[in-house]
Amino acid sequence: MAETGRAAVFLGPGKGYEIQEFEVPVPEPDGIVIKVSMGGICGSDLHIWRGDSPLFAAMAGNVAGHEMTGRVHRLGAKVKTDSLGRPLKEGDRVAYAYFYPCGRCYQCNKGEFAACPQKLLGMGPSISKFSGAYGEYYYLKPGGWVFKVPDAITDAMATPVNCALSQVTYGLQAAGLRYGDTVVVQGAGGLGLNAIAVAKEMGADAVIAIDGVPGRLALAKRFGADEVVDITQQATPMDRIAKVKALTGGRGGDVVVEVVGIPQAVSEGIQMVREGGTYLEIGNISFGRTAEIDPSQLVWGSKRIQGVVMYNPWVIPEALDFLVRTKDKYPHGDVVSHTFRLDDINDAFQNSEWLREGDATKVNRAAIVMA
Ligand SMILES: [Zn+2]
Ligand SMILES: [Zn+2]
Repeated sequence: MAETGRAAVFLGPGKGYEIQEFEVPVPEPDGIVIKVSMGGICGSDLHIWRGDSPLFAAMAGNVAGHEMTGRVHRLGAKVKTDSLGRPLKEGDRVAYAYFYPCGRCYQCNKGEFAACPQKLLGMGPSISKFSGAYGEYYYLKPGGWVFKVPDAITDAMATPVNCALSQVTYGLQAAGLRYGDTVVVQGAGGLGLNAIAVAKEMGADAVIAIDGVPGRLALAKRFGADEVVDITQQATPMDRIAKVKALTGGRGGDVVVEVVGIPQAVSEGIQMVREGGTYLEIGNISFGRTAEIDPSQLVWGSKRIQGVVMYNPWVIPEALDFLVRTKDKYPHGDVVSHTFRLDDINDAFQNSEWLREGDATKVNRAAIVMA
């Protein structure tokens, strides 16, 4: 009998997940079957689960989740190495991208893989239903980037590598962060905490983190934030802008990073950018949710908006090296505050709903542990 495994299928916005059993695929010659160790619940997964955009309904019927790590379960006949040419064998721990730039488009030809319009479909549909993080297996399609995870990194540390950590690393590079800059981070969730540490390691002189959840503000400090702005204290956008200005010599940040994922944060964030600085937009993934901005602030302020989604391949090994280098400096393993079994995935999402009044302090970030 064929080998099978379980996975959480998304039933649609507001409907949660159902555990179903699927056949573990025999990999194509260039594909890899991965046994997932842990799948993280990212802010994007919460947007989809809630249905913050009606278009997310199209994702129903698929295995959900994109942030994960695992071990090589079965290698395709032609796969001998990881994406850096290092020997790869069954049982090796790996970090891998969850998207597949097509290699056959204008952007891919310019080496701008993160901007590939086809990157979620790659070179066609997967041969397997195991196409998300919340399953016992993940099928890495031919051409997918895969990198060995060093022994020094735990699974909890490796799980956010393919989303949160690589995303903010690539974003801060795209924003042109330079040595000595001041960085403001709107939102100290999974992406925000990683952004703080990465900004410091890229040479930021000061990092200011903004959030309203006490546990996140405390973690922000441990991740290197020099100052925190508590939105329960600075309750209006004007208060927060004034506070950021006061902390930056009246200027605002060189780079302001949006990782809250709500459109209302955008106008506020642009006003926190210094004249000539950059607003880095990462969090608002929900199609059709708009924000009102005053474009004259960009013109008269010579400000730039840089949007990013996903990243270029070399960011994953950079992120893994960063973890090895800084594992004793920042509490990488503490970002995930709660773990759940795959069977309890609906509870995991209910408990992660930070937008619901009163629950915000409960779970900072949850992850599903497969084994
Ligand atoms: Zn994510
Ligand atoms: Zn492409």
